[in-house]
Amino acid sequence: NKTIGVLTSGGDSPGMNAAIRAVVRTGIAKGLHVVGIKRGYNGLITGDLLDMDLRSVSDIIHRGGTVLYTARSPEFKTEEGMQKAIKVCKEHNIAGIAVIGGDGSFRGASDLSERGIPCVGIPGTIDNDISSSDYTIGFDTSVNTAMEMVDRLRDTTESHDRCSVVEVMGRRAGWIALDTAIAVGATAVLVPEIAYDVEKELVPRIREIQKTGKKHYIIIVAEGVGHTAEIAKLVEEKTGIETRATVLGHVQRGGSPTVRDRVVASQMGYHAVELLAAGIGNRVVVMKDSKIVDYDIYEALKMVKPFDKNLYDISNTINI
Ligand code: ATP
Repeated sequence: NKTIGVLTSGGDSPGMNAAIRAVVRTGIAKGLHVVGIKRGYNGLITGDLLDMDLRSVSDIIHRGGTVLYTARSPEFKTEEGMQKAIKVCKEHNIAGIAVIGGDGSFRGASDLSERGIPCVGIPGTIDNDISSSDYTIGFDTSVNTAMEMVDRLRDTTESHDRCSVVEVMGRRAGWIALDTAIAVGATAVLVPEIAYDVEKELVPRIREIQKTGKKHYIIIVAEGVGHTAEIAKLVEEKTGIETRATVLGHVQRGGSPTVRDRVVASQMGYHAVELLAAGIGNRVVVMKDSKIVDYDIYEALKMVKPFDKNLYDISNTINI
């Protein structure tokens, strides 16, 4: 029987388990033998593999994190590490690997494909920062968590006529910040993609809105902008409104995946195995215009995803 592997690499995200499950079950349905590779590329280097059967992925569709664990593997980026990984693949007859992770993991997948082990990438990250895909597994769960947390903050912010400056995750991208801002009705959203001056733009905006009778404010700051405590301090100094800074942090990475993440992960896992079963590698499975399709990894890595300026403008127009 032809063997394929599955691994999760880079930061974890809710829905990765649903993707692993889809890969294992689709593989078995197609008559393949499936092995789980532990801790990303590290497990490929050390041969930390696990035979998977239908029941190995029972009871995981609703769980956050990744049952295969994940890691960043600096060794894999060296030719020596890569050769060790290839040796393990040969020893175990691994004829293809589904790599669930971000752009960094896809670079590794493409390096392996070039050296004769066909790999297919599946976009898994809460940040939605994978250039080739409209959507990444984990994003929906993450923004729903951020929204719920900010809803709680709103109760206390409102009761005290305060301002809350809330930092959400997203690495260098503002997608989590933008959707959260829309969903909670934040007075302003600061994202790395669009320059916005706190003193010259945010403070006057709050002052203008104050005149309409509004007494409590929520400001969302993307991780890629940072300086959340300083922003809060400046807002308090310049507006006289008592202002608190909150950094939500890793709570946004955990929790039971939403319907959207479970469904997309299942579709993407299935699609990846269709390619691997046909011996096709160096591809990445993506969502494009609500459809699941696949691209060449090199082409995918070169793509740029324009930020949703229209949604940003909507936020500033209605969240006033
Ligand atoms: P996330 O953004 O969600 O953290 P990611 O996949 O972008 O996910 P990285 O830490 O960039 O996370 O990459 C994960 C792993 O992929 C690295 O530790 C390394 O083993 C491998 N990798 C990254 N870049 C390369 C590269 N240029 N060549 C080969 N392997 C790479």
